Amino acid sequence: MALDPDCIFCKIIDEKIPAEIVHRSENVVAFNDLNPQAPIHVLIIPTVHTENAASLAKMSPTITADLFNAAAQIAAERELTGYRTVFNTGADAGQSVFHAHLHLLGGRGLAWPPG
Ligand code: 5GP
Ligand code: ZN
Repeated sequence: MALDPDCIFCKIIDEKIPAEIVHRSENVVAFNDLNPQAPIHVLIIPTVHTENAASLAKMSPTITADLFNAAAQIAAERELTGYRTVFNTGADAGQSVFHAHLHLLGGRGLAWPPG
């Protein structure tokens, strides 16, 4: 199944619900996070439904790389000198949407270690 009709991010891919889309290609859609944690907070997702980063990597190393290449392109467009990319996996790590998504965070100093 390419898209899951019950998945909120699949609905964004399909333009069934609105989002501020900043990048789209065959394999990738990127849009601004509804609840941004930094001045730039973009979610970069595969256009195929799969639960998390590991399942995506197993399904397609190419699409996994496409997410990171999109992150680099968006960061370059915004002239970010540094940025953070994050996949949360599992509810214990804060994953709340079970369609793989790469967070791109930037535009402010980012502390380490993260919370
Ligand atoms: P997670 O917690 O699963 O790693 O990240 C899910 C992210 O999706 C959260 O940062 C949340 O703010 C964002 N989010 C959830 N629902 C929507 C939505 O309908 N639209 C947009 N643009 N972002 C969403
Ligand atoms: Zn989905």
